[in-house]
Amino acid sequence: MDAILVVNAGSSSLKFQIFSVFQGTLTRQVRGQLDGIGQRPRLRASDAKGSPLIEMTFQREEVPDLPAAIDRTRNWLRSLEGFSLLAIGHRVVHGGPDYAAPTVIDHALLDKLATYAELAPLHQPNNLLPIRLAMDINPDVPQIACFDTAFHRNHPQLADCYALPLAFHAEGIRRYGFHGLSYEFVAGRLRELMPERAAGRVIIAHLGSGASMCALLNGRSMESTMGFTALDGLPMGTRPGQLDPGVVLHLIMQKGMSAEAVSKLLYHEAGLKGLSGISNDMRDLLASKDPRAAFAIDHFVYRCALNIGLLAAAVGGLDALVFTAGIGENAPELRERIVRRMAWLGAELDPEANQAGSLLISTPASQVGLYVVPTDEELMIAGHTLRLITATP
Ligand code: ADP
Repeated sequence: MDAILVVNAGSSSLKFQIFSVFQGTLTRQVRGQLDGIGQRPRLRASDAKGSPLIEMTFQREEVPDLPAAIDRTRNWLRSLEGFSLLAIGHRVVHGGPDYAAPTVIDHALLDKLATYAELAPLHQPNNLLPIRLAMDINPDVPQIACFDTAFHRNHPQLADCYALPLAFHAEGIRRYGFHGLSYEFVAGRLRELMPERAAGRVIIAHLGSGASMCALLNGRSMESTMGFTALDGLPMGTRPGQLDPGVVLHLIMQKGMSAEAVSKLLYHEAGLKGLSGISNDMRDLLASKDPRAAFAIDHFVYRCALNIGLLAAAVGGLDALVFTAGIGENAPELRERIVRRMAWLGAELDPEANQAGSLLISTPASQVGLYVVPTDEELMIAGHTLRLITATP
């Protein structure tokens, strides 16, 4: 069967999915990942029904880095029978200032995207590596780059800049915003399910291990809690979210920390993990009786509520709030606590619907429609990929 491979390559994991294509319809057939790269490498994949296809662990030195992970994964993918690869869709974190839509990749684009590595040094090189390898090995298979920044690229100029001398903006130091593929998917679902709400003032809360919120007007991104990098905004699993830049200066200039040490702190040791000293995983914190876990959750809820106020101001009020991603979709207690802090906006939760994780979780009297919409970034990438290869002569 004709198939599209979706690839999401990070520093410690390589995620992949295969979608079959039949008469323009995409159906997920395989979902898998090789994670723990360089630590405890493990390749897992399951079929459309969730039944395991492979579960394999490796010695650390067998899969020390991403190239090795790509090699292992590719070998396993090639052993699958029955798929005829039409194209590969990639998640690419940064489309820089120029790319506001998914784009067919050629050598010139790849070189251009490599220049954005400076803007996202932890993600971009990893995202581009499998593209480069596939280009060498399978030059005839089209590849499509789908950018996390693209959905926000048409946000207003006001939302795009920092109050720095404008020359910095010109060189690319801007508020890009991320999680765009998730927002695009959820906004599309909202348009299908409740077009009237989708046409209004909406906040989508993507609360996963990375977390951000996006304010939309008529389905378009107007403002995001993330900016130049995916560090800003909400506290996350291991990232602090909003932080006075003076703290960074202090760490470097007064405490003598190296830039690398600060980067490690901000990307890997802060957020829920740093604050609780227990875990970056919300499930562990919810299960813990340790007061530090409770405090980290309180902080997360508080910052979510603050940022809802901020984004509501960006779009002049709020018609709907949509929860999505790991925490947003699966943690009714967190949704309940966030909404409790939104009483001033007239938001009112239906506790039973919330507990059940229904699509609509607000009461009829609520002035803000509250929703839970599962995200699907991979399907979004597969959809873009199919659309572009169908449009390409
Ligand atoms: P990512 O895709 O960025 O890795 P996810 O969207 O999968 O992240 O979200 C991961 C987060 O969701 C983790 O903090 C995890 O604890 C949390 N999560 C997943 N399921 C639940 C649940 N049932 N209750 C609370 N938190 C959950």
